[in-house]
Amino acid sequence: MKFGDYEIKVVNDGTYEYTTKRQEEILKAFAPKTSTLKNVKARLLLRANNLLVRTPQSEFVLFDSGFGDSNFLREGIKKISEDNLVNNLKNIGVEPNQISHVIQTHLHYDHAGGLAFKNENSFSLAFPNAKIWFGEEEWRTIFESDETPFGYEKGKLEFVKENAEVEFSEGSVNLFEDFSVEVTRGHTFGHRVIFLKTQGQTLCYLGDILPMSSHINLDSEMNYDIFKEEARIKRKELLERAFEENWFLVFYHSPRVVWGFLKKDGKGKFFLES
Ligand SMILES: [Zn+2]
Repeated sequence: MKFGDYEIKVVNDGTYEYTTKRQEEILKAFAPKTSTLKNVKARLLLRANNLLVRTPQSEFVLFDSGFGDSNFLREGIKKISEDNLVNNLKNIGVEPNQISHVIQTHLHYDHAGGLAFKNENSFSLAFPNAKIWFGEEEWRTIFESDETPFGYEKGKLEFVKENAEVEFSEGSVNLFEDFSVEVTRGHTFGHRVIFLKTQGQTLCYLGDILPMSSHINLDSEMNYDIFKEEARIKRKELLERAFEENWFLVFYHSPRVVWGFLKKDGKGKFFLES
């Protein structure tokens, strides 16, 4: 799809199923004894929707990098499709070494796991010619706090820092050309959204501050956020700005509706128009 002078495409890293023991227990406890529900698993379908942007100069920019081979990090997450980011890129004629920039919303394994792949003794870079854009705040909380927060594959991230061209930025800043980030915190200490602003239009890649399009009208705290109340407030603020300024939103984990312009219906409820 065209976005100003840019070309954008969602290239995903496969479909995942998330089942937790707790969810299963609850579902089974509430199911009638005779119900076949007893055998049904409580599951949530997740995607990893990375965004590929082709600039007017024909450079390729990638937003987030998928699970890669880091999907072992959380119990209950299972990949249920055969496809992956690298193959999906190849299928549309883009080789991994053609990617010039990878911008990360945050560094959880399901967003940054695809930056490198584990081999026998070490790792290898998935996008060897790309400049990788990390947030300083996120990096500091992973590597400078007393206890490692859950959800990061530290060894891989360190390898990327040592072996790739990594650029750190702090706060909400312009990165290059029409690409910028805004630190939202909430989901993690350094979580940020990515903007592409061109010809009066704004694309916002939401990462995990608002991971699914089905959540646009939910105003509640989410378990996956580290700073839950802060995340709820930020989500609300972003949605209002998105509506006021007619942003084009891209949702990282949505299995179906992955993007659209945010609109309101007659009753003030949000909906997406693509
Ligand atoms: Zn995520």
